[in-house]
Amino acid sequence: GPAPESSAEALAWLADRGGIAGPYVNGKWGPLRDDMSIHNPATGERLAGMTKSTPEDVGAAVKAARKAQPAWAKLGGHGRARILYAIARLIQKHSRLLAVIETLDNGKPIRESRDIDVPLAARHFYFHAGLAQLLETEKPNHEPIGVCGQIIPWNFPLLMLAWKIAPALAAGNTVVLKPAEYTSLSAMVFAEICTQAGVPPGVVNIITGDGDTGAALVASDVDKIAFTGSTAVGRLIREATAGRHIALTLELGGKSPYIVFDDADLDSAVEGLVDAIWFNQGQVCCAGSRLLVQETIAEDFHARLRRRMDGLRIGDPLDKCIDVGAIVDPVQLKTITDLVDAHPEGDHHVAATPLPATGCFYPPTLITGLSPASPLMQTEIFGPVLVGTTFRTPAEAVELANNTRYGLAATVWSENINLALDIAPKLTAGVVWVNGTNMFDAAAPFGGVRESGFGREGGWVGLSAYLKPKTTGKTLKPIAP
Ligand code: NAD
Repeated sequence: GPAPESSAEALAWLADRGGIAGPYVNGKWGPLRDDMSIHNPATGERLAGMTKSTPEDVGAAVKAARKAQPAWAKLGGHGRARILYAIARLIQKHSRLLAVIETLDNGKPIRESRDIDVPLAARHFYFHAGLAQLLETEKPNHEPIGVCGQIIPWNFPLLMLAWKIAPALAAGNTVVLKPAEYTSLSAMVFAEICTQAGVPPGVVNIITGDGDTGAALVASDVDKIAFTGSTAVGRLIREATAGRHIALTLELGGKSPYIVFDDADLDSAVEGLVDAIWFNQGQVCCAGSRLLVQETIAEDFHARLRRRMDGLRIGDPLDKCIDVGAIVDPVQLKTITDLVDAHPEGDHHVAATPLPATGCFYPPTLITGLSPASPLMQTEIFGPVLVGTTFRTPAEAVELANNTRYGLAATVWSENINLALDIAPKLTAGVVWVNGTNMFDAAAPFGGVRESGFGREGGWVGLSAYLKPKTTGKTLKPIAP
């Protein structure tokens, strides 16, 4: 079919719905109120209005989810799988609309939303449909948790929604999900996909709104909160749920090291960095944002990297040739700008390509020669800014890599497999990539340690976070000691 670079179809889709994003509760839209505005960060234009769901709206959604849950669980793994497969196929069928909406709303390059976000979201539903079919044999004596409150960030709106909703539904739970306030449009498309796929009313509920709506969801009568977002909000949620005996998983921030040894294939390592820190404008929780290069090759490597940066194409996210799109919102743009401007230390290199005259754009930036204690090396920037220093020995590389509050991901580049296998277990991270980076799969558990959170998403491990084991007398086989 035609390439999805035109926004006319997506804007018409929004206009057909009154130009307002709002809650989807019990299979129906509403209340629709123009409480907040949704903007295209690349142009500043208003795309739609949005309901800021009140605690009453949230309560109605949780009530609908509670009522729908027993029948959804009773449907069994095979019954739920049929519906999850239907959702996956409908994501593929509507992939063009989803990709354009996502790019308009978030500012990410259409190449990424079309080739990564949307296909990975479909894959997540296919994969979890498969797991649902295996539940009765592979996980006997397990029950769903019940009603799950889910709160997601703006960097991968549809994909984070899929990571939350697919395992929850597969396991027999019902959900109330709050998308991020900057990016709620693809969740609206998804809600309609649920209706088309035959998801029973109340099984999937979406509540639009900002942090206040999120806090109302956390305070509501749910059995679990699954949160992806900043470490600061994660901490608030942990406090708010303490002592309430509800399940909790947190996927938080990161400052992931990207380690290049002197024997690495340097051009591949440079290309890996384009993915690690300039994919989605660096607004990726596991972005390889701290570059650690072995001293002997540092000069050569940095020179190659600067050349590659200067070739990056920055501009209209709907243009298929663009590598780097817009930052999600002026607030985020200001956070990045303020942080970098406050720290002139190190050698700054800014990509040569000029930025568009208007819109939320920040240039790909490399800052080398930093001290490990520099706030630039310690603070998550969540933008297209790569910071780094050099090391002499593998032991020093490990020490620098682990010198962080976080522990989400780490990347190692070396042609020496013995070295890579020696380093990997010493890195404090939930995922370690060797000679590659930002590789995800629905079957591979993803998540962090330390201030990056706890719990995993993906695979059986991720599904288990939506199940309660239950030992019953019938299944016990007493044996002599
Ligand atoms: P954020 O924490 O401000 O917002 C995340 C979500 O939480 C939004 O939906 C927001 O409305 C909601 N929220 C805000 N305040 C709340 C409150 N008091 N109670 C309940 N909900 C509240 O984060 P963000 O700016 O949207 O996202 C950026 C952060 O998310 C980065 O730090 C990034 O590392 C992290 N992130 C982590 C992962 C991961 O898998 N570990 C993935 C993506 C993003």
